[in-house]
Amino acid sequence: MRSFATQTSTECPACHRTFDATIWLVVDAAERPDLLARVRDDTLHRLTCPHCGQPAGEADAPLLIYRPDAEPRLIFSPAQQTSTEQDREHAAMLVAHLRDVLGEGWRDEWVEGMLMVPRLLLPAALSDDPEAALRRMAEETQQALEHLREEDPEAYQQLEKAARAMQAAERAARLLAQLEEAEDKERFLRQHLDEFDDEVLAALGALAQAAAELGEEEAAQGIAAVAAAIEALRLEQNPTAREMVEAMVGDGDLAMHLQAFITAETWAESRRIVEAHPELLTDEADALLGQLIEAACTQGDENGVRLLEEHRTLLRRCREVGVEE
Ligand SMILES: [Zn+2]
Repeated sequence: MRSFATQTSTECPACHRTFDATIWLVVDAAERPDLLARVRDDTLHRLTCPHCGQPAGEADAPLLIYRPDAEPRLIFSPAQQTSTEQDREHAAMLVAHLRDVLGEGWRDEWVEGMLMVPRLLLPAALSDDPEAALRRMAEETQQALEHLREEDPEAYQQLEKAARAMQAAERAARLLAQLEEAEDKERFLRQHLDEFDDEVLAALGALAQAAAELGEEEAAQGIAAVAAAIEALRLEQNPTAREMVEAMVGDGDLAMHLQAFITAETWAESRRIVEAHPELLTDEADALLGQLIEAACTQGDENGVRLLEEHRTLLRRCREVGVEE
């Protein structure tokens, strides 16, 4: 027999009697269509107490599905409360078991083509009609969410936030893929500027950071460059920002010195710039800073607003009490 289970002793939460539960870890789809049906129903690891017939929770276990008649041959679905490291160990262990059982029939290349499927998506992945299965899953999730919204509004909000972030990441990934394909990238960005909303921009930032943490420097820089290009295009389409840019162009020197003052890395450096350029202590410079703050506000750039306001306060103080103080 190629399917493989482990036995574990567990206590029934309803009648508190212990029983031996069978936890399937390897399922041969051809040998045990009954087990495959349970995977499709998402009931394979659900436990039922043999004494009182009550549900006794769900075992958190990995699962390897072997499909002798279908591609990919191997589908691995990790346990849920496990680390990536543990998942890798589980997969290696179950693959080794199947390889031993199959003997001559085993092919190493199956491992390369092995599909990793999160448990939540497993029923859909194994369905004859994955789209319908996904739709059904989305409906069930929606119902569960509605229920949660009534029962536990706080948990609901957190979950909704997480779900929105996930959807934004998905949209960001899709847009990046389309951008990759686009021949005229700037034109693509202009045409899809509306789709790159604040949530997608935040997701791009997160994606760039994740790529950087994984050592994918090139990918991280590419994603950051896309985000920067979007910011620039938005700025171009934002009337306040455009006015600001025009104002800065209109008085190039003042704007340049103001910029140097704001982006200086230390306060000592900022002070040196003010000393060298007293025009920064004029009403004109103050007004220009006001425009910059307004533009940052319009864009919801909270950090920018804070930075600009700090520098405006500093310049005003210099005007009152002198640069040295
Ligand atoms: Zn029981």
